[in-house]
Amino acid sequence: MPELPEVQTVVNSLLPHVVGARFIRVTTLRPDFIVPPGTDLPALLTGRTVTSIHRRAKRIIFTLDTHQRFLIHLGMTGRVTLHPVGSPPVRHTHVVLAVASPVRKSIEIHLCDPRRFGELRWLGDDTGEDGLGYEPLALRPRALAALLATSRRPVKSFLLDQAAVAGLGNIYADESLFAAGLHPLTPCNRITRDQAARLCRCIKAVIRKALYHRGSSLRDYVDAEGGKGAFQKLHQVYGRAGKPCRRCRTPIERIVLSGRSTCFCPKCQSAA
Ligand SMILES: [Zn+2]
Repeated sequence: MPELPEVQTVVNSLLPHVVGARFIRVTTLRPDFIVPPGTDLPALLTGRTVTSIHRRAKRIIFTLDTHQRFLIHLGMTGRVTLHPVGSPPVRHTHVVLAVASPVRKSIEIHLCDPRRFGELRWLGDDTGEDGLGYEPLALRPRALAALLATSRRPVKSFLLDQAAVAGLGNIYADESLFAAGLHPLTPCNRITRDQAARLCRCIKAVIRKALYHRGSSLRDYVDAEGGKGAFQKLHQVYGRAGKPCRRCRTPIERIVLSGRSTCFCPKCQSAA
C-alpha cells in the first residue's frame, strides 16, 4: 500500500506536468470509483485549471482555480500515471483526465486501481477538518510523548492510526520502530519521554530516507512517470521475516497485530 513517501513521490512527479494545466476532457470508466455517488466529474472539472497539488497523509489533493478541491486516495493498488493524449487505458483504469497547458504538451492522467480500495473524492468547497493526525515530518517530540501517554495500545497500532499520526502504514511503522529499538507490542504509555523523542527522530529519518529513494516498490507502486522506488532494498525488517537482522544477525520475527503483519528484530527491539 502506498504510504507517505510513495504518495509524496507521485505528487512530486505530477507537479511539473499538471499545475497550471486545464482539464479538457474527463472520462469516467467506472463511475463508482468517484465519491460521493452521483458526482458529475466531467461537468465539475472540464475547463477548470489546477492551481496546486499537495499531499496530506496518504491523500493527493488537487486545488482548482475555483478554490474547489478533490482528492485521490491510492488505496492498496492505486496508480496515478501520465500518458500521451489518446493512450489506450490499461485494464482497471477507472478515470482518465486529459489536461492542456499553455506552455507544455497536453497530457492524460490515468487512475488505475485493480483492487479498488482507492477513490477519487470530490471535496468541492469543503475545507472542514479532515480528521487526520500529525504529519510525521511536522511531529514534535513533546506532542508525540503527550499522545503516547494517553494510550495503552501497542505502539505499532498507534503508529498505524491515521487520527494520531497520518501517513504511516505497515512498512514505515515497522521500519521506524526498528530504528528506534522499540518492540512493536510496547504499550504506548510505557514509552519514556526519551524513547518518544528517539521514536520521533527515527520516524522522520526513515521517511526522509524513503523520500530520497522515491519510496518502496513492492508490487504495484510507481510514480506518475512509471518510475519505481528503491527504498525496498533498504528495508531493515519489513518483509524480512526469517532473514537475519542486518544489525545483529538474529532472525527477524513476524507477528500478526490487528490483522496486519508486523516484522521486528527480537534482539534489537527488546525495549518494552
Ligand atoms: Zn537485530
